[in-house]
Amino acid sequence: MTTTTAPAAGSPVESAQHPDPLAAARSQLAEAVEILGLGPGLAEMLATSRREITVSVPLRRDDGSVDVLTGHRVQHNLSRGPSKGGIRFSADVNLDEVRALAMWMTWKCALLDVPYGGAKGGVRLDPRAYSEAELQRVTRRYTSELMPILGPTTDIPAPDIGTDEQVMAWMMDTYSVNSGHTVLGVVTGKPLELGGSRGRASATSRGVVDVALAVLDHRGLERERTRAAVQGFGKVGRGAARLLWEAGVKVVAVSDQFGAISRSDGLDLPALEEHVDTTGSVLGFAGADDLPERDDLLTHDVDLLVPAAVEGVIHSGNAGKVRASIIVEGANGPTTPAADAILADRDVLVVPDILANAGGVIVSYFEWVQANQAYWWSRGDVEARLRERMLAGWERVRDFADRRELSLRTAATTLAVDTVASAHLARGLYP
Ligand code: NAD
Repeated sequence: MTTTTAPAAGSPVESAQHPDPLAAARSQLAEAVEILGLGPGLAEMLATSRREITVSVPLRRDDGSVDVLTGHRVQHNLSRGPSKGGIRFSADVNLDEVRALAMWMTWKCALLDVPYGGAKGGVRLDPRAYSEAELQRVTRRYTSELMPILGPTTDIPAPDIGTDEQVMAWMMDTYSVNSGHTVLGVVTGKPLELGGSRGRASATSRGVVDVALAVLDHRGLERERTRAAVQGFGKVGRGAARLLWEAGVKVVAVSDQFGAISRSDGLDLPALEEHVDTTGSVLGFAGADDLPERDDLLTHDVDLLVPAAVEGVIHSGNAGKVRASIIVEGANGPTTPAADAILADRDVLVVPDILANAGGVIVSYFEWVQANQAYWWSRGDVEARLRERMLAGWERVRDFADRRELSLRTAATTLAVDTVASAHLARGLYP
């Protein structure tokens, strides 16, 4: 196991082909720091991860050979409570990406008043290239390498790209076996039978749609006349598309990593879900046409765009061609700072990730509270409390943005950074 510290803040130039999420996260932070007038020491502290671990994860393949994979866990901030954030299994995982995602988690928790700091982790692998038994071995080895820094009062993982409730069950079991007793609160996003929360699986999508519908109302757009496109058809995108459809919004285009499809009078979401369950992709769905290029979805003729896949997809090269007037960020970091500036010039309203996709961490917090108390709430209770927090967050950010004439992203980041900085200052610097 090797531990490293984060490099000093810098601002490498963005490239459309190679998004740099850490540069984006740091430039958003720098803007908030300037607005708040924070000193350089505090600013540096907020730009720097508190703890970073890189582990090697040796895996015995089913054929007896050994692959040595690399995993990371970054705890960005611990001022307001234990750190919290997802685990990503993807071939694109790298330390800088994990640092950025951990920083965004800190702001998200602070903005929505969830008593955690931010963390993120991941293993660099393409999960589709491994059997279920191999993924279980990877998960257990990675978890045991992280044992010293995980725990229900220290650092609490959850699912992210390429992981799911089964991976969380393996993590919880590995941690519990090594601790000598069952520890339900060490991860969230677990199956219901292991102390998961009702409503957790759909929480991120539900929060995205709660906010998206509030924005439509705010802009005076009728649901039935609103056309939406959703990028990504995984845990977040699929649920968001389905809930928009249930709310009466016309979902006219969706995509996944393989390609994009569209139907101008609206997709039949239940039929599309059946197609995806059978074939593994949205492509080839009989009730729609395949778009020529996957990323054509981003510039499709819609009112509402929900990017719910990966970072940096809306960049300086395509922001000028986005036709949606509202973007609600289901993914973390889908819009680069250069794209933000272009979209602001064009009066496109961007509801930032740290607000729009906070439903996942809100219900993760509810799950942790329930597991620690061994008392479980009804689904209706979970969804009502989630909605209340999402709408309060939206109104708070909108109000601050209006009063200070800021973009929603700058308003949200500034409010969050202020909360974290105040907690840090109240604790004081030790020794
Ligand atoms: P997932 O692995 O379940 O799904 C990802 C989806 O994106 C898949 O359908 C994949 O095919 C698609 N995809 C990948 N690259 C693409 C591309 N270039 N174009 C179009 N589609 C592409 O992951 P998820 O949990 O749904 O996470 C999606 C995003 O939401 C990530 O940014 C994640 O950090 C963020 N997020 C997830 C949660 C959560 O609770 N799962 C919470 C907050 C934020």
